[in-house]
Amino acid sequence: MSSQPVNEPILGYAPGSSERIALQEELDRQMEEVVEIPCIINGEKVYTGNTSTQVIPHKHGHIIANVHQAGKTEIEAACQAAINAQEEWINMGLEARCAIFERCAELLAGPWRMKVNASTMLNQSKTAFQAEIDSACELIDFWNFNCFYARQFHDMYQPLVSPKGVENSTEIRPLEGFVLAITPFNFSSIAANLPSAPAILGNTAVWKPSRNSYHSNYVLMELMMEAGLPAGVINFVPSSGPDISDVCLDNPDFAGVHFTGSTSVFQGLWQRIGEALPNMKSYPRIVGETGGKDFVVAHPECDEQGLLVALLRGSFEYQGQKCSAASRAYIPKSVWRRMGQPLCEEVQKITMGDARDFTNFMTAVIDQRAFDKITGYIDRAKASDVCEIVAGGGSDASVGWFIEPTIIVTSDPNYESMVEEIFGPVLTIYLYEDDDFQGVLKICDEASQYALTGSIFATNDVDIEIAFNALRFTAGNFYINDKPTGAVVAQQPFGGARASGTNDKAGGPLNLLRWISPRSVKHTLDIPQEWGYPFLQPDE
Ligand code: NAD
Repeated sequence: MSSQPVNEPILGYAPGSSERIALQEELDRQMEEVVEIPCIINGEKVYTGNTSTQVIPHKHGHIIANVHQAGKTEIEAACQAAINAQEEWINMGLEARCAIFERCAELLAGPWRMKVNASTMLNQSKTAFQAEIDSACELIDFWNFNCFYARQFHDMYQPLVSPKGVENSTEIRPLEGFVLAITPFNFSSIAANLPSAPAILGNTAVWKPSRNSYHSNYVLMELMMEAGLPAGVINFVPSSGPDISDVCLDNPDFAGVHFTGSTSVFQGLWQRIGEALPNMKSYPRIVGETGGKDFVVAHPECDEQGLLVALLRGSFEYQGQKCSAASRAYIPKSVWRRMGQPLCEEVQKITMGDARDFTNFMTAVIDQRAFDKITGYIDRAKASDVCEIVAGGGSDASVGWFIEPTIIVTSDPNYESMVEEIFGPVLTIYLYEDDDFQGVLKICDEASQYALTGSIFATNDVDIEIAFNALRFTAGNFYINDKPTGAVVAQQPFGGARASGTNDKAGGPLNLLRWISPRSVKHTLDIPQEWGYPFLQPDE
C-alpha cells in the first residue's frame, strides 16, 4: 500500500520571495491575454460560437476570456462521451487511475501552481493567500488523499470470512453510467474535485462549471488532460443550469449528481431527479453540499482577543464568500462592552482593492447579482429599527464590485441577516445577557435552517461541553476556540446537515463511498455434486 500523503505546505508569498515574484509575473501575463475557452467533449475542444465573456470582479471592465457555451446538442454529446469512456476507464484499474490524479497533484504543486493561482485570483477575485489555500493546497490534498482513501477501500471492504472451498471477495465497482458534477464559483478546488473524486473510483463525468469561474476551471481541465486523463472521462461543458438539468437528468444512464452550491438549486435538482426516476436505469446517488449560516457563540468567559481575530478572519476573508464564513455571532453584553469597539476599529483597518496588490486583505464580490443581493441586506439593516451598523456599510460598484466589511448589531435574534445566507462580507451580532448562555444556545440551534459550520468560544471545559451538546445538530463542522472556516482535507472532513447538504464529507473517505456500487462475489471451489441435504434422510 502507498504511504499516507501529507498536507501540501502553504507558500507564504512574503515580499521578495520567489513565489511572490513568480505569481506576479504570471498575473501580468494573464492580464495581457483573452483566453478562448471551448467545451471539452471526448477530449476534443469544441468551439460553439455561442460565447459569453468572463470578467475580473475587482475590475469588471476587463475581459479575461470568451467562453463557448454548450447547448443541448453538446451536452448530449458530453453525456455520450462519458458513457462510452467508462468501460476502458474501469479496465485501467485503480492504480493506473490514481497515477493520473497523483500526477495532477504533482503538476499543481510544481509547474502549474502559479498559473492556477493567478487564474483563481483574477477570475474569482481572491488574494494570493486565499488562492494558495484553495486552488493549490486544497486541490493537491483532494487528489492525493482521495487516491489514498480509494486504495484503502480495496482492502478494507473485503469479506471477513471465506469458508473452506469458497473464495469470497468484493469488487469495488463504480456506479453504472455517468456522474453529473455541478460546481460553485467560490472554490477552484471544489470545482475540480467534484468530477475527479468519482472518477478516481472508475466513474466518468459531465462537469458543469459555474459561469463565474470558467477561466480557472478551464485551466484545471487543461492540467488534468496534461496529466494523462483519457478522453471522455471528464467532459467540460460551460452551459446554463436549465439546459444541463434537462439533458442530463432525462438520460437513463444518469448515475448521480455531485453538487456544491446554493440550497435552492440543490433542492430543485433533487425534485427534478425524483420526477425523472421512472426512466432511469439506477437509483442515482445525490450528493450535495449547500448553503450555510455559520455562527460563533461566545461565553462570558472566553479569550476575547482570539474571538476578535476569529470574527474578523472568519467573516471577511474572501469577502465572506465561503459557505463556512462566520455570518452570525452571539456575544455576551459584558464581552461586547470590552471588545466591540476594538473589533470595529480593526475591521475599519481592513484593506480592500485589486487582488494583484498583495497588501489588500479583501477584494471584490463575484458579480453584480451578488453585489445587489448583499447591499440589499445592508440597506434594509440601515433602515431597520432593530439594527445598527457599527462598522462598514459602504459599497462601490464603479470599477469592481466592492463592499466594505460590515457589522450589524441587532436586538432581534431572528432578524433576516441573523438567519438567511447572505454570502458576502456582512456579520450580524446579537448581544445576550451574560446569564443566558443556555438560552442563547437554543436560539442559535433553532434560528436558521442551515447547519454547516459553527464555533464556540469559551475558556472552561464545562461550558464547552454544554455548547457541544446543545449544538450537536447545528453544525456539521464544529470549532472550539477557532473561526468556523478553513477546514483542511484529511483533518476536518467537510459538510453540513439540515438544509446545508447531505453531509457526505468532502476531504474524507465517506464521500468516496458514495461513488461506488460494490459487487459481492462468491467463487465456489468445491462445487456441490449432490442436491440432497442430510435432513431429508428418514429417521433410523
Ligand atoms: P449556485 O447555486 O448559484 O450555483 C452552483 C452551480 O449550480 C453553478 O454551476 C450553477 O450554474 C448551477 N446551477 C444553477 N442553477 C441550476 C439549475 N437550475 N440546474 C442545474 N444547475 C444549476 O451557487 P454559487 O453562487 O456558485 O456558490 C455559492 C453557494 O454555494 C452558496 O450557497 C454556498 O454556501 C454554497 N457552497 C457550499 C459549500 C459546501 O461545502 N457546503 C461549498 C462552497 C459553496
